[in-house]
Amino acid sequence: MERVNFFMDYKKNLVQQYNQCAAYKLLCDNQGFNPSINLKSENDMDEVPYFTTTLFKKSHGLFKDLLRVPADKLDKWTVSSSTSGDPSIVGRRTKDIIKIKEFIEREKSLKSLNDYDCVFYPEPEVMKKYKSQVILGKSTESYIGNMLDIFNFSENTIFLIKPDKEDLTIDMDSFKAFLEDHNNMDHNLSIRGSTILLFDSVNKLKDNMKPVKLGKNAIIHTGGGGWDGKKGNLSMGSALRRQDFVEIVSEFLGVPKENFVDSYSFTENSFPITGHYSKEYKDYLFHIPTWGRVMIRDIKTLKPLKNEGDKGFIQMLNAYGTSAFAGASILVDDIGEIVSMEECPECGSKLMTIRILGRVKGSEAKGCGATLNVKEGI
Ligand SMILES: [Zn+2]
Repeated sequence: MERVNFFMDYKKNLVQQYNQCAAYKLLCDNQGFNPSINLKSENDMDEVPYFTTTLFKKSHGLFKDLLRVPADKLDKWTVSSSTSGDPSIVGRRTKDIIKIKEFIEREKSLKSLNDYDCVFYPEPEVMKKYKSQVILGKSTESYIGNMLDIFNFSENTIFLIKPDKEDLTIDMDSFKAFLEDHNNMDHNLSIRGSTILLFDSVNKLKDNMKPVKLGKNAIIHTGGGGWDGKKGNLSMGSALRRQDFVEIVSEFLGVPKENFVDSYSFTENSFPITGHYSKEYKDYLFHIPTWGRVMIRDIKTLKPLKNEGDKGFIQMLNAYGTSAFAGASILVDDIGEIVSMEECPECGSKLMTIRILGRVKGSEAKGCGATLNVKEGI
């Protein structure tokens, strides 16, 4: 991809979505918004109607109505890993997944330049097919499995999560051997994958192994959420603070804190965002790349917020990679905080920068439950 004209591409995508998805057209018509007429400039993007991620949940039975092409034109259904047994189901074409690959390859911090990768996920093919079902003649595949599949891992990659009948288990012996092999070597290496599985494994090893020093050329790249303490069938019983994760893992593995990065995406979205750890903020700072937009919306009023320190729901505006489903404007029930609208205060990148605070909880959730379950006339 050459330099993108995000607004023009976004408008084109939204107009097509309006014409191709009757449910989205209905939502827009109810709000008096026609993208061909009302989306004239970047400022109008505040008004773009959005679907919420909850609408894609299997239990709602609406995921077929959120397609932009007939189901027989899809290549696959991508599904989220789900704690509740109620995954999101998003129809995709292969060309949309290739778009996501282009974005991942443009993120310099995500390119695998490492000689050795150690991954807290199963091999991509195993992950893709894990608990696959057939819906309307197409197989479901794990979204994370698809993300792993397009990532350029080195030849020396160890996938630590192994299938064991219906379950997945962590190959602790291989993890321990990896740490011992690279101790005090300053090798170019990465440890990637599920935050909660990596944290859990480090805590198990701490009891019977001395800390190692992987050194300044190692990076720790997590993804797939899990900061609320839950992922799939695994639960830690409490939320995991990013600061605690980074301090404990940094100390045990001997990797500098500034070498920690985290990726954020979800099944209904098409551009992952990446954050680098900030010692000052004691949190990951996520840059919003030029090929996507993020809006933060007030939890109660849902109005767009634009000031540093404002917190609210995260809305992702996708210009690319949503040709098969109505994914151009998606609101997710994660809370983000604006660090800066223009520039990362830590590294100086001229990009909107946010922190991700996690799911809404307790009293806040009561206020937004209705919001996120709206079917908006579908
Ligand atoms: Zn930065």
